[in-house]
Amino acid sequence: MRHRLWHFHGGLELPGHKGSSTTRPALPARLPRRVLLPLQQHVGSPAEPLVTAGERVLKGQRVARATDFISAHVHASTSGTVVDVGDHPVPHSSGLSAPCIVIEPDGEEEWTALEPVADARALDPARVRNRIREAGIVGLGGAAFPTHVKLNPGPGRRIHTLILNGAECEPYITCDDMLLRERAREVLEGAQILCHAVDARRCLIALEDDTPEAAARVDEALAALDDPALERVTVPAVYPMGGEKQLIRVLTGQEVPSDGLPLDIGVLSQNVATAYAVYRAIAHGEPLISRYVTVTGDGVAEPRNLEALIGTPMADLIDQAGGYRPDVDRLIMGGSMMGFALATDEVPAVKGTNCVLAMTPRTAPRPGQALPCIRCGECAAVCPARLLPQQLYWFARARDFDEAQAHHLFDCIECGCCAHVCPSEIPLVQYYRFAKSEIWARERERRKAEVARLRYEARQERLERERRERAERSRRKQEALRETQAEPAGEKKKAIEAAVARVRARRGAASDAAAPASEDGAPEPGREDHGRGGR
Ligand code: SF4
Ligand code: SF4
Repeated sequence: MRHRLWHFHGGLELPGHKGSSTTRPALPARLPRRVLLPLQQHVGSPAEPLVTAGERVLKGQRVARATDFISAHVHASTSGTVVDVGDHPVPHSSGLSAPCIVIEPDGEEEWTALEPVADARALDPARVRNRIREAGIVGLGGAAFPTHVKLNPGPGRRIHTLILNGAECEPYITCDDMLLRERAREVLEGAQILCHAVDARRCLIALEDDTPEAAARVDEALAALDDPALERVTVPAVYPMGGEKQLIRVLTGQEVPSDGLPLDIGVLSQNVATAYAVYRAIAHGEPLISRYVTVTGDGVAEPRNLEALIGTPMADLIDQAGGYRPDVDRLIMGGSMMGFALATDEVPAVKGTNCVLAMTPRTAPRPGQALPCIRCGECAAVCPARLLPQQLYWFARARDFDEAQAHHLFDCIECGCCAHVCPSEIPLVQYYRFAKSEIWARERERRKAEVARLRYEARQERLERERRERAERSRRKQEALRETQAEPAGEKKKAIEAAVARVRARRGAASDAAAPASEDGAPEPGREDHGRGGR
């Protein structure tokens, strides 16, 4: 029976530009001269290095550890020597450098000890989730959110459906398509492991209708696995179908609440490449050290997909795709809609790198001068998140971030549909990114101030407590002193009285012994003085 589909608002039908990179099979990328492993390749806290320059490392060895629950370990993608732990250019829209571990490969490809598991379903789900965490797996669709976090819905929440996202909607990118053509069985086994990890009852494998070869390979693998929980669903190739909320809407008819998560409606969404990484982590015990990367665009001689080691410089990948064409003008990480320009091709492919796009002015003309907004409403018509992009633009421009937030700025998935259709060529997404980063910076400042306030209050409280304790100690001391001073006076008095009594008693005894007692027992007259003088 055909799976019922729903629609999402807006979206665009865009030319795919996918044919050029799918004519050749994916190739394992050559071992580069150096691999650069940024400590921050994921959403969350950066990892902390576990190695220093000069150390030899093995392939798959953990070289940096996650510092938080929302963080991910980093592993050496080849064996060799660590030659530096320091700042190097990384693939980020800011163009800034960030801490990296640099490894010079020794060519041995010597693996660290691995612990493969033959039957993942024999493992407790919590142990599966932990192994996924140990393998440093993050969302490979581009978001790079740590996978183990998504697999822990928290108490009281249950995941009933896993959506395996193979809707590779962005122009030029074909790495998921090629992965499914070549490794469909492993991807589906990864999906089964994910279902086991969260106890999901069913898995919907979503593929767009422009990837028939991948669909055929998936169908073959489904027949071989014969698992009634797995179902392939064809969805229309409309951008941004691969957006998490959009795909969930199309497959289930349910809306993920604004500011909410798919978990809130019992759904987990994972990219097909993430499922493949999960399969390798469990069945082979391998951490995430490589991935499929599309190297394409009219600025590269032989567009293709490469299975690249994480940390391979972009320049090496371009080289293996035949090198640059003479009129190349721009290098982009990601697709033409959501990607960002790279300042240099020395930056490495990281966990979230799905595509490297070399463009010429023919296919990617420089944007013209932005004109004033004419309030045409085109942007709102195509927004898949049902936002008011022109309003968000005004708020961002006026730095009215509270209003931008009130108009659901954070529901914007930065798909670029609005900017694509804007007749005034306003770089709308840049305004949204600016507004978001300002709000995050403000939030960070607010938290910092809050932490400083709490610290100040705690210090004041401690000082006050110490003052009170000192006062109490002093009071007790005074009291004790008074008691000890008062005590000797009384004792002294008692001692004197006792001494006087003793003396009197002795005198009395001496008198009795010296004078013969009269008949009535009284001393004789005159004997008393004699007795005193004889002493
Ligand atoms: S599409 Fe551009 S010009 Fe039209 S309303 Fe939106 S921002 Fe303004
Ligand atoms: S970039 Fe944001 S505002 Fe623009 S269409 Fe996409 S979701 Fe809507």
